[in-house]
Amino acid sequence: MAGLYRPRHPERTVLYRVLFHYFDRFLAEYEGRFEKESGFLRPVIKEVVERYLDCGNPRCGFARIRCPDCHAERLLMFSCRTRGFCPSCHSKRLEEWGEWMRETLLLDVPHRQVVFTIPRMLRIFFKYNRRLLGELCRCGLRSLTRYFQVTTGSELMPGVIAAIQTFGARINAHPHLHFLVTEGGVDEGGVFQKVSRIDDSRLAELFGREVLGFLVSKELLSPEWADRLLSWRHTGFNVHSRVRARTNLVPVALGLIEEELRPLPSKGWAEMIRKVDEVDPMLCPKCGGLMRVIAFLTDYAVVDRIIDHLNLTFVAERPPPAHSAYPEVLMVADTPAEYLS
Ligand SMILES: [Zn+2]
Ligand SMILES: [Zn+2]
Repeated sequence: MAGLYRPRHPERTVLYRVLFHYFDRFLAEYEGRFEKESGFLRPVIKEVVERYLDCGNPRCGFARIRCPDCHAERLLMFSCRTRGFCPSCHSKRLEEWGEWMRETLLLDVPHRQVVFTIPRMLRIFFKYNRRLLGELCRCGLRSLTRYFQVTTGSELMPGVIAAIQTFGARINAHPHLHFLVTEGGVDEGGVFQKVSRIDDSRLAELFGREVLGFLVSKELLSPEWADRLLSWRHTGFNVHSRVRARTNLVPVALGLIEEELRPLPSKGWAEMIRKVDEVDPMLCPKCGGLMRVIAFLTDYAVVDRIIDHLNLTFVAERPPPAHSAYPEVLMVADTPAEYLS
């Protein structure tokens, strides 16, 4: 059965070793040490980390796959498929999401990235009340449509894909928005009008007014404070729009702009794994045919026998010392540091 299983050994990474050895202690000490500063520990955090610790662990079972042509067999370990945490599963998700956007969603027009950031002193509202993040996003959208309206003189509806990011490059609390935006929008007659340049400081000013208006309406900020902040030369609201998207688009109808987001298709999963790993786990190593799952092996006794038979190991080594772990864990957050601090 040698060669039936190709482990990728996530347990040898710094991230895995740190969590394997310290996550229980972190949970036990969270309330006393971190809750005051970082707020309530959301249950999803524990759930995601526990799933990540099982990702690719042979002890959690296998799928047995077989080639219908030459009957070759392999074992495939289970992935956690968590979002935004497991480096392996997250990169597959990104690939899948990007592919779906390019092929189904994006219009055949130029796009750019627009990043919206807020003043440091306002971060605290979004840190303790994540529901406000949705409204922050709508503030970004309103300021953008307003900007297009002011610069072109007509009501344009831009195409926007919005991503809320709650942390900065040092994994600090730093709520900000990444928008992928069409360079222009559709006017009332359904015609796309191009706006090739965005004046970041003007858009930042509109964004600041929207956010402050919203915080005042929620009675989180007094109107006097909002006015004072707006009168400062550097308000702390920033926009960065200089990054243009490189898209090789399949031309699609403008009508798609009205379409609702649909759930990601799951059928492309193996295809995406192939793109990331450059090895298609479902491709027969002997004849190149497409292998099929014939069974899931999750019974502990069976799984243990297979692990013994194949001499599989999945043991997290001791954790690295803190000063070397920190920079390496930070490298996992591979966001450009330019506008994240
Ligand atoms: Zn995973
Ligand atoms: Zn085959």
